Amino acid sequence: MIITDTHTHLYSDAFDDDRSEMIQRAIDLGITRFFIPAIDSSYTKSMLQLEKDFSENVFLMMGLHPTSVKENYKSELLHVEQQLLNRKFYAIGEIGIDLYWDKSTLDIQIDAFRYQIQLAKQYKLPIVIHCREAFDEIFEVLEQEKSDDLFGIFHCFTGNLEQAHKALSYNMKLGIGGVVTFKNGKIDQFINQIDLKHIVLETDAPYLAPKPFRGKRNESSYVYKVLEKLSELYGMSGAEIARITTENSKAIFGV
Ligand SMILES: [Zn+2]
Repeated sequence: MIITDTHTHLYSDAFDDDRSEMIQRAIDLGITRFFIPAIDSSYTKSMLQLEKDFSENVFLMMGLHPTSVKENYKSELLHVEQQLLNRKFYAIGEIGIDLYWDKSTLDIQIDAFRYQIQLAKQYKLPIVIHCREAFDEIFEVLEQEKSDDLFGIFHCFTGNLEQAHKALSYNMKLGIGGVVTFKNGKIDQFINQIDLKHIVLETDAPYLAPKPFRGKRNESSYVYKVLEKLSELYGMSGAEIARITTENSKAIFGV
């Protein structure tokens, strides 16, 4: 059984004390493919090091996270472009709009999001979307930018059924993580109405740990809890969920 964690910040300093052991715990459970979203240029060095240390298992994305879109965002976007010219990445991410932390930067967040969508089209890469309290704003940009060559993942999807269908209509898969195990997470109430071919698994480690680890540091081995929950909700074996969601991840990332 091969399980894919499509969104995990393994380079985070939350793992500085036990990174190798933590990654090995996941690998021992069959979680052998890790897709690593970028945040901003301050993490690039540790991402490249992570890939060196776990070259069989780690696949890097490049992008500027919406909460890192500040006055200097144009030079950050230049860094993203330079990295893309340098070497292979598997997605542009994570990118999007976050109105939970800062509403005042909405204009430049939209600008950075749109610009990085252009890069994804140019490099024929998927996008990985971060959306927090910003469904309408994100859908507005996607509506303007939609095309057959724009595709990707709505990471940590927390919307309702209608928003799920809308995301799918823009060629996006839904990244399902710990929230599906939360009592008040809501997506557990309708997710089985979405065909599994549109679903990928993720942790967003070190954030958003699933039940029974909620509130603690999250790690990639806990994607197992997400798998178990989906197995229950879809009435399918864990092996089948792992197989289909890993196939989906391969279709998106091309690896
Ligand atoms: Zn993330």
